[in-house]
Amino acid sequence: MERLQKVIANKGYCSRRNAEVLISDGRVAVNGVIVTELGVKVGPNDEISIDGVKLEGDDKVYFVVNKPRGVISAASDERGRKVVTDLIPVDEVPERIYPIGRLDYDTTGVILLTNDGEFANMMMHPTGEIDKTYVAKVNGVVKPNAIHKLRRGVVLDDGKKTAPAEVYIVSTDKGRDLSTIQITIHEGRYHQVKKMCEAVGYPVKSLRRSQYGCVELGDLPTGGWRRLKPHEVKTLR
Ligand code: URA
Repeated sequence: MERLQKVIANKGYCSRRNAEVLISDGRVAVNGVIVTELGVKVGPNDEISIDGVKLEGDDKVYFVVNKPRGVISAASDERGRKVVTDLIPVDEVPERIYPIGRLDYDTTGVILLTNDGEFANMMMHPTGEIDKTYVAKVNGVVKPNAIHKLRRGVVLDDGKKTAPAEVYIVSTDKGRDLSTIQITIHEGRYHQVKKMCEAVGYPVKSLRRSQYGCVELGDLPTGGWRRLKPHEVKTLR
């Protein structure tokens, strides 16, 4: 049995907060009876309707987290270190959720979490070609030639060339001998962005993923999370 507002949110109808407002406003019925209390719990066989319309949908949930440094992209860690799923309050999730793909321990930014295995597999499938955008701070003042090489593809340590990428210089700082570059790739090879930058002579000092498909970091603070909007899930599919 779970709280009514949580079940409504988990079905993707609206946020838990908005579900609470719907309930308080007397717009939600359980098995045909209007419920206005927030404490009510419902089970899988209870029929929920909002404004008289039966609530359909499954219990799949989709979150985006702004991963901080020092957090593992996993659902659990045998050494007890902090994992991304710890960033979402337990009362928000119906069951086990897990991250879609990985970011390195020291990489920050967008990571998606779900309990929808089919969706996760689709996102990670190489033919899915979801664009991922990274902002990398690198040592050295990046020369245009390096950007051209990154765009065309560079050979990594496994002997395979990376697919063409979108690469831009965001800024350079001659005084501190640093540059910031933005790289958009659709592959997901191990340490790919760090290896690409290393391959053209500019080791990465810090890395942030700013976008995953249509999902942007926006003003989500480091360590923050939000549910994906239904249109974001639809666009990613
Ligand atoms: N590329 C990397 O090198 N590290 C990440 O975490 C993600 C992409």
